[in-house]
Amino acid sequence: MTQTESDTDVTALKDFRNTLLGTLLRPGDEGYDEGREVWNGMIDRRPRLISQCAGAADVASSVHFAREHDLEIAVRGGGHNVAGTAVCDDGFVVDLSEMRAVWIDPDARTARVQGGALWGDVDHETQAHGLATTGGVVSHTGVAGLTLGGGIGWLMRKHGLTVDNLRSVDMVTADGEFLRASDHEHPELFWALRGGGGNFGIVTSFEFALHPVGPAVLAGPVFWTANAAAGVLRFYRDFVRDAPDELGTVVKFGTIPPIPVVPEELHWRPAVAVSTCYAGDIEEGKHVLRPLREYGTPLLDLVSRKPYLAHQSGLDSTVLHGWHYYWKSTDLPELSDDLIDVLIDHAFAAESPRSYAVMFHLGGAVSRVPEDATAYAGRNAPHNININGVWRPDEDFAESDTEWTRKFFEALEPHREGVYVNFLGADDGTHRVREAYGERTYRRLADIKAEYDPDNVFHLNQNIEPTP
Ligand SMILES: Cc1cc2nc3c(=O)[nH]c(=O)nc-3n(C[C@H](O)[C@H](O)[C@H](O)COP(=O)(O)OP(=O)(O)OC[C@H]3O[C@@H](n4cnc5c(N)ncnc54)[C@H](O)[C@@H]3O)c2cc1C
Repeated sequence: MTQTESDTDVTALKDFRNTLLGTLLRPGDEGYDEGREVWNGMIDRRPRLISQCAGAADVASSVHFAREHDLEIAVRGGGHNVAGTAVCDDGFVVDLSEMRAVWIDPDARTARVQGGALWGDVDHETQAHGLATTGGVVSHTGVAGLTLGGGIGWLMRKHGLTVDNLRSVDMVTADGEFLRASDHEHPELFWALRGGGGNFGIVTSFEFALHPVGPAVLAGPVFWTANAAAGVLRFYRDFVRDAPDELGTVVKFGTIPPIPVVPEELHWRPAVAVSTCYAGDIEEGKHVLRPLREYGTPLLDLVSRKPYLAHQSGLDSTVLHGWHYYWKSTDLPELSDDLIDVLIDHAFAAESPRSYAVMFHLGGAVSRVPEDATAYAGRNAPHNININGVWRPDEDFAESDTEWTRKFFEALEPHREGVYVNFLGADDGTHRVREAYGERTYRRLADIKAEYDPDNVFHLNQNIEPTP
C-alpha cells in the first residue's frame, strides 16, 4: 500500500467512525478480542474491523463502508452458529450483538425484536405478559440466525416453527438500503427469509406473533440408564406417534449433567433422557406424561410444574460459550427397529463426558404448513438428530470425539433424509446446503438471491449461490 492510499484509508476510517453511534473495533483495540469470540471456542478468526452497531443506521453505513472498501462481510447476531460464520479473517464483521431490544404489543400479541437479541431476551419480555413464541431451547442462542434458518423449539408442535410466527422483518440490503419484507411487501423475499438463512440481507428487527403460554408449564427430563435405551426408544416411538400438539419432546443421549438438581451419585452417568415441555393445562399434561414417567425404572424424574422461563434456560449451563464443538446432523424418519439399533450402537460411544446427541420430535403444527409456504424444507421429517462432540479447550477429546461424531453420522446414512440448515457444521460443504433445501426450493432461493444479492455479498453463511 502506498503512503497516499494508506492516508486515504485512515481518513476514510475516521470519517466512517464518526458516522457510527456504536463502536468500531480494530486489532489491538480494547474489546477487540472479546468482540471476535463466538460461542464455539474452536473458532479463532481475526477480522480487520468489527462494527458493533447501535441501530439500523449503523448497519446500513457499515454495509456501505465494507462494500466501498471491498471488505468481505460477516454478520453476527447471537454468535451461536457452530460453523462460526458470524466472524471472518481479515474482513468486516457487522455485529448486531448490542441491538437486543424487544417491544411487546400485548393487545395485538406481537413482539418486535432487534436483530442481535437472544432468545432469553425475548422470553423475558414476552412472559411478562404470559405470552411466548417458538424459540430455541437454549436461552443464549441468537434470534436472528435461528429464525432465518427456520426455528425449532419446545412450542413448535403447537405453534409452528419460529418462521411460521414471523410477520415481518426490517432489513438492510446488500446495497445498504432499508427494506421491509412481509406477506404484503416483497413477498417472494419474505418467503426466502423464512428458512433461507442470512443470504438475503441483514435483519435489523423481526416482528413475531405471540401466544398465551404458561407462565407455568409441566416440563423437564426423565432419565433411564443407557442400558435401557433400546426399550425406551421403542416405547417413545409409540408414545409420540399420537402425542397432542401441546407436548414437545427431545431425546438426549449422553451423560447426566452435574447440575444442582441432580443427585451427586448420578453426575456423568451414561443415560438416555426424554425431555418434555407440555405447553397446555398442567393437569392434562400430567395425564399425558404419566405413561412416559411410569415406563420401566427411571433413574431420575425431573418433570415438574415450573416457569416456562426457567425451562427455557435449563440447558444453558450444559453448552457453555468457549467450549469446543463439532457437530453433524440429519433429519430422520420414524424410528424403525433398525434405526434404533444404529442409535444405540453409537450414541454412548463418545469419549468426552460432555458429548451428546439430541433428537427433536417435530410433526404437529410444523407438518401442517404446506411444504412450499416457506423456504424451510424439512416439514415432513418426524425427527432430526444433532450429534454434538463437545470438550473443553483444555481437554484431549478433539480427535476421538470428532471421529465419534463422523462415525455415528455415517452409520445413519441408510436412514437419512435431509438436514436442518442451522445444524450444519463448518465442514459439511455446499452439497449439504442443497440437501437441506432440496433442488426445487434451492433453485427458487437462488433466483431470489440473484435479485437481492447478485454479487453474493452475504456469502459467509450456509450459502445459496445466486442464479447466474
Ligand atoms: C447451544 C445451541 C442450541 C441451539 N438450539 C437450537 C434450537 O433449539 N432450535 C433451533 O432452531 N436452532 C438451535 N440452534 C442452532 C441455531 O439456530 C444456529 O446456531 C443459529 O445460527 C444461531 O443464530 P445466531 O444469531 O446466534 O448465530 P450467529 O452465529 O450470530 O449467526 C449465524 C449466521 O446467521 C446469519 N445472521 C445472524 N444475524 C443475522 C442478522 N441480524 N441478519 C441476517 N443474518 C444474520 C449470518 O449469516 C450468520 O453467519 C442451537 C445452537 C446452539 C449452539
